[in-house]
Amino acid sequence: MADLGVIWQEAASQLKDTLPKAKSQWIDRIFFEKDDNGTLVLSLSSPFYKETTEKTCRTEIENTVSAIAGHDVKVEFIVNQSRKASPKPAAKAQKKEKPAEPVSRNTTLNKQYSFDNFIAGDNSSFAFNACKVIAQNPGTSFNPCLIYGGVGLGKTHLLESIGNYIDEHNPKMRIIYTTAESFTNEFIDSLLSKERISSFKSKYRSVDVLLIDDIHFLQKKDSTQEELFHTFNELYDNHKQIVLTCDRPITELTDITDRLATRFRKGLNVDLQPPAYETRMAIAMQKCREKGYSIDQKVLEYICQNVSTNVRDLEGALTTLSSFASLVGKPATLDIAKDQLRNFIITPAIRNSDITVDMIIHSTASYFNIKDYDIKGKSRNKNITLARHISVYLASELTSYSLSEIGKMMNGKDHTTIMYSVEKIKSILGTDESVKQAVEAIRSDLVNS
Ligand code: ADP
Ligand code: MG
Repeated sequence: MADLGVIWQEAASQLKDTLPKAKSQWIDRIFFEKDDNGTLVLSLSSPFYKETTEKTCRTEIENTVSAIAGHDVKVEFIVNQSRKASPKPAAKAQKKEKPAEPVSRNTTLNKQYSFDNFIAGDNSSFAFNACKVIAQNPGTSFNPCLIYGGVGLGKTHLLESIGNYIDEHNPKMRIIYTTAESFTNEFIDSLLSKERISSFKSKYRSVDVLLIDDIHFLQKKDSTQEELFHTFNELYDNHKQIVLTCDRPITELTDITDRLATRFRKGLNVDLQPPAYETRMAIAMQKCREKGYSIDQKVLEYICQNVSTNVRDLEGALTTLSSFASLVGKPATLDIAKDQLRNFIITPAIRNSDITVDMIIHSTASYFNIKDYDIKGKSRNKNITLARHISVYLASELTSYSLSEIGKMMNGKDHTTIMYSVEKIKSILGTDESVKQAVEAIRSDLVNS
C-alpha cells in the first residue's frame, strides 16, 4: 500500500492547483504528521488554523487523498505547536528563484519491475520488444496494447516496466498503474457522492499513460465497463497510451460488452507463453543473483526441470528452498530439494481444483483446534488471528478466487484486509518456523484429501 506521507504530498499539490484561492492558502499550513493505522494524521500549528482548515477544506482533502490512494482514507487533524518553527510557505517566491525539479508524481508504480530484470526468452521476446517500443514512444505506436497470458508469466512485470521506464525518461508524464479490481472498487466508492465521481473521472481521464492489469476481472461488471469505455475513448482520442493485461485473449472473455471488447482488440495484442527450460534456467539464475540465493547448479536444474508452469511458481520454489537452507544452516542438496518442493511442485496442478475456501477454513481451524466460525469472526485473540491470516493466505494460493471474492467468503472482509493477511504470512514464512510448519501441514492435508 502506498505511503500516506507520499499520498499527502501529491494531494497537497493537487489541492493547491484546484482549490479556490481562499481555501488553497490553508494547504501550505498543513503538515503530514503520521500514518496512524491507515488514518492520515495532519497537523496545524494552532487551534485556530486547525478549526478553519477543518471547516473549509476537510471534504476536499478527504476526497482527494482517497482518490489518490484508491480507497477511503480517514483524515484526522491535530494541533502541533512545534510546527510554528517550520519555515512557512512562500512557495511562489521560492519558485522564482529556483525552478522546481520535475518530480515524479507517479506513486502507483512498483519500482522493483523493470525491463532490465526481465529475461526475454522465446516465449516472451515479441511482447518484451513491443512493450519497450511503447515505453520509448508512449501514445504513438501500438495504442492500445493488450498483453495476455496465463498466471505468473510476467504480465504485471512488463506492464509495470512500461510505467517505470516512462516515469524515468519522462517524469512529467502522469502515469496510473492499477488493477481492474482496484479500478472497480474505486469506481464503486466514488458513486457515493457527485464530488467523488467527478474526481474519479478526472483522475483517470487526465493521465498520459493508463496501465490496467487483469481486465478479465471486469467480466459481469457492467457499470465499470461503461465507465472504462468512456475513459478509454477520451484517452484514445487524445493519443494517450493505454496498456492492458488479461489472462486470456479478448475473444475468450465472456460478459464483456462488444463495444469495449472491440476497443481492447484495437492496436496490438501480444501473448506470453510459459518459458522453455533454457529460459527458466536463465530466469532462475537471475533471480538467485538478485536475491542473493546460493543454490547448487544441479539443484537449480532439478527445479527448472520440474517447475515448468510459470515464473511465479519457479520463484516460489527458489524462495522455499533457500529459506529452508538458511534455517538449517547448510546448502540445499538434491534430496532436500525433492523433499521440500514436493508440495510446491504439485501446487500448480491443484490450483483450480476442487479445494474451496470453506475447506481451507475447516482444515485451518482443525489444525489450530478452534471453530470454523472463529476464523470468519472478529476475535483479536492471537491464535485465532494467525489462523485467519493463514487461511486467507492458503485461499489465495490454492484457489483462483480474487482477493475480493475471498473477502466475501470470509464474512465480508474487504480487499485491503485480505491483502494484509496474505502479505503478513508471506513476510513471516521464511523466518517463523512454526508458521511455516502450520502452512505446510494444512496445505498437505488439503492436497492429500
Ligand atoms: P502475471 O502478472 O503474468 O501473473 P507477474 O508479472 O506477476 O505475472 O510475474 C510473476 C513473477 O515472475 C514476478 O516476480 C516477475 O518478476 C517474475 N517474472 C515473470 N516473468 C519473468 C521474466 N521473463 N524474467 C524475470 N522475471 C519474471
Ligand atoms: Mg499479474
